[in-house]
Amino acid sequence: MDRIEHYIAGELRSSEAWLENFEPATGQVSGKIADAGEAELDAAIAAAQSAFPAWRRTPGAERARWLNRLADLIERDLEALARAESEDTGKPITLARSVDIPRAASNLRFFAAAATQFSSESHLMEDGAINWTLREPHGVVACISPWNLPLYLFTWKIAPALAAGNCVIGKPSEVTPKTAWLFSKLCIEAGLPSGVLNILHGRGPGIGARLIDHPAIKAISFTGGTATGAEIARVAAPRFKKLSLELGGKNPTIVFEDCDWEHTLEETLRAAFANQGQICLCGSRLLIQADIYEAFRDAFVEKARALNPADPALPETRQGAVVSRAHYEKVLGCIEQAREDGAHILVGGEAAQVGGRCDQGWFIQPTVIEGLSPSCRSNQQEIFGPVVSLMPFRDEEEALAIANGVDYGLASSIWTKDISRAHRMARNIESGLVWINCWMRRDLRVPMGGMKQSGVGREGGWEAMRFFTEAKNVTVAFDG
Ligand code: NAD
Repeated sequence: MDRIEHYIAGELRSSEAWLENFEPATGQVSGKIADAGEAELDAAIAAAQSAFPAWRRTPGAERARWLNRLADLIERDLEALARAESEDTGKPITLARSVDIPRAASNLRFFAAAATQFSSESHLMEDGAINWTLREPHGVVACISPWNLPLYLFTWKIAPALAAGNCVIGKPSEVTPKTAWLFSKLCIEAGLPSGVLNILHGRGPGIGARLIDHPAIKAISFTGGTATGAEIARVAAPRFKKLSLELGGKNPTIVFEDCDWEHTLEETLRAAFANQGQICLCGSRLLIQADIYEAFRDAFVEKARALNPADPALPETRQGAVVSRAHYEKVLGCIEQAREDGAHILVGGEAAQVGGRCDQGWFIQPTVIEGLSPSCRSNQQEIFGPVVSLMPFRDEEEALAIANGVDYGLASSIWTKDISRAHRMARNIESGLVWINCWMRRDLRVPMGGMKQSGVGREGGWEAMRFFTEAKNVTVAFDG
């Protein structure tokens, strides 16, 4: 049984209160999680505050060395971390091994490089002066991450925060705390200076709420649900804390009649069901042009039927378990709601039975539904599970009306060989990310984030470095 403890002032530390941690594939308790209270928060804030003066003065190249050292240790322990991530989330081990953990290391390496390259800009002014813009770290910042891509999204936040010279209080999801805890052991092994990074575990409405409200926290980088994001914005507003909010999505996948058929089928299937549909970027609304609707639907359903959920620890598994009992019940409830609203379930629609050690696990059959109007709740609310809703459209105009007719605006994908149409669609679609003939091709340099209720601000590249710094412009006259 794991005992998942906080990482405060360079050491592991426990709490009086404990939560249970579960393995989704078996439904069994896998360990205990320390649930931070006021004392742990105060200790973490004090450690971060006392580390800040030295860390902000540490040269970028040295901060980069620390981040690269942590990336080395992640790569050394890739197998153990991938296993822990798969056990904690229910995601297939192959996905954790090939995407989640390598990506955590590349986040650290990418922002290590940024620490050495991101610097002040200067301008020569025509009236005999020069000015330059300093980029100064905020001080102590909070990085709060969700359960779907635990170490991947945790490092995506803490790496730029540390690279920019801040000290960090990280708060991973209480549903999947394991890899952040293993990472804190790597920080101890690396000898990361005490207090530069602190990690508090525990309930969102408990320690999470206390953390964002603490006056010492100057900026909050949050990824999670839209309702939580709204609550964080409300709490942060009176002190004007800097906010970056990466929230939910209801992303359209738009398939035109001239798409590259096999490639589109494979990739739209992946967009719908990767990580059991639990990626904020997943395409949960599949819009298919009317001329090919039936043929594409039938081929898509056939492929979805073949995606049998299985033990995530097996290398050939492509569909694992959903993350928790509560989420399993929520997703099954959404499917029930769709049925009540008149949806036709083409495949799936039920819990999946996986035998052996997984017979009590939280598995859901990949589910494809059709027959619902674009405005009904199943096509409006984020389900965040292995459920995709199919809708036909006649032309570009109708596709855009359906695609944009939701409160979210995170990601979209467009599948066509007509380059002019692809550009027109990309210009008119309301989403922070648009993929043409691909899905989830990520480049760490580009802005990542959503429009409308999918968030505020952008992460990635210089956007993240700008978020984690304050701009200060200094002008000096040189001609007297
Ligand atoms: P969540 O909002 O329940 O929790 C996210 C994190 O916030 C957790 O660490 C949680 O403990 C903490 N938290 C909860 N309540 C809090 C509070 N009142 N104050 C401070 N912290 C609090 O989200 P989740 O269920 O873990 O994740 C799923 C959601 O995340 C989905 O909506 C998904 O779309 C979204 N998501 C978005 C992106 C993106 O980049 N836009 C990426 C991944 C996930």
